[in-house]
Amino acid sequence: MPDNIVVGGVSVDTRHWIGGERVASDDTFADVSPIDGSVLGEMARGGPAEAVAAVAAAKAAFPAWAATSRAERARILHAIADGVEKRIEELSIVETTDNGALLRSHRRGVMPRVAHNFRFFADWLLKLEHEDFETRGHRNHVSWDPAGPSVLITPWNAPLMLATWKVAPALAAGNTVVLKPAEWSPLTASLLADIAAEAGLPAGVLNVVQGYGSEIGDALTAHPDVRRISFTGSVPTAKRIAESAAGNLTPLSLELGGKSPLLVFADADLDLAVDLAVEQYDNAGQVCLAATRFLVEESVAEEFTRRFVEKAATLTQGDPRDETTDIGPNIHPRQLEKIDTFVQRALAAGARAVIGGHRKDTQYYAPTLLTDVAQDSEIVQEEVFGPVLTLQTFSTEEEAVRLANDTRFGLAATLATGDAERAERVTEQLVAGTVWVNCFFVRDLQAPFGGSRHSGVGREGGTWSFDFYCDVKNTVTAPNGWKNHG
Ligand code: NAD
Repeated sequence: MPDNIVVGGVSVDTRHWIGGERVASDDTFADVSPIDGSVLGEMARGGPAEAVAAVAAAKAAFPAWAATSRAERARILHAIADGVEKRIEELSIVETTDNGALLRSHRRGVMPRVAHNFRFFADWLLKLEHEDFETRGHRNHVSWDPAGPSVLITPWNAPLMLATWKVAPALAAGNTVVLKPAEWSPLTASLLADIAAEAGLPAGVLNVVQGYGSEIGDALTAHPDVRRISFTGSVPTAKRIAESAAGNLTPLSLELGGKSPLLVFADADLDLAVDLAVEQYDNAGQVCLAATRFLVEESVAEEFTRRFVEKAATLTQGDPRDETTDIGPNIHPRQLEKIDTFVQRALAAGARAVIGGHRKDTQYYAPTLLTDVAQDSEIVQEEVFGPVLTLQTFSTEEEAVRLANDTRFGLAATLATGDAERAERVTEQLVAGTVWVNCFFVRDLQAPFGGSRHSGVGREGGTWSFDFYCDVKNTVTAPNGWKNHG
């Protein structure tokens, strides 16, 4: 197996990054581009031995990194951000080739945001404090202590973005990290290891191991030296990880799937509502936060649908490297198969495809909108993770809220309404980690992020990230303690 492959003109190391060194495995797995199904290269395929080595490296590096001053940790995080910014073009082309998301989004939005992840948590670390308070003259002082080696497991739909949203706060917190990227898009994690090393991050503080979750996962998540596990991915994997982590009671943060609603009330600006609706095809529908269930007030449903169809027809689907493309391929033929199975079952159960309802070819799925779907049907209840949306109508606000909340998920909800009081009323009743009113996907890193019910456990973002990655300590000091000890 070659140690490096060239992707979009960029050299990417195919090996793990453990203890500041590149490490090969006996086995490999093929990394395939969703753009054309071509094999980009063979990647080192880690198993329990690599997991154990990576956790050992993270454990060995922990005491020194935890003892590193906040200012120095922040400086190195900013240096990593500098490295990301210098390589935005390279990271963008590699990510697009590896996971099929739009090159223009990577260049202009995602990769700058990756750099921002490091800058934000570096700066937040420097101002992280809780005001001291008194109890009968005793001083209470809250501190955030580094917790230890952290295992971070991430999915393929926004690989570097989601990895660094965990890596940055974990490192800022003083923890060391073992990052396990998804097997369908492992390349930018390897580039991140290079960037972090160039930025001066000490050996062993960040480790990257590649491989199939089923082969390397348990050895990471059941390891007794791991102090935190943060996972973004699907519900079945989350359950598996929770079982595996239970033996050591390792604290978990779980960011999972969704089946989020877009509620369109008759008093909404319909053009805005349609813009929000069409946005749900972004990243070929492979977005956890996507509002995949349109709930539209009956009186405007026909007009909304007409305008939506008109707008959706203007979207171009094709090569994600092309500046004019709006919707790229789906990640893998297996994912495409899964999407199509959902759609065909829905059609067989009586759904009607307003648009789409079929594959385009081996890599692309036609943007789809299904109506005549029952609330308890699979297509309304289960996450598809493709460009497949459903439309249902409601006649009262109560019904809208009931339908919105009637799944096992609770990640996000989007409202289109022209009535501020209604927005407040409805928002209060929605079960969701994030609610957007007349907007979508506006995400500030200081906001709490996470899901309710099966969409996740815990919140990250701003201080919530430090609360998770740290051992939060309260020290109570007696007012006259010093005198007694001379
Ligand atoms: P997945 O659960 O199949 O895989 C996610 C990661 O877990 C991969 O790195 C995989 O290798 C690893 N994994 C698999 N089995 C494992 C095991 N037994 N132990 C440890 N790790 C294991 O999910 P996916 O298909 O890659 O991602 C899509 C899912 O992620 C969707 O459900 C989507 O909604 C969700 N997601 C959620 C968010 C969020 O922030 N809530 C963001 C993006 C994606």
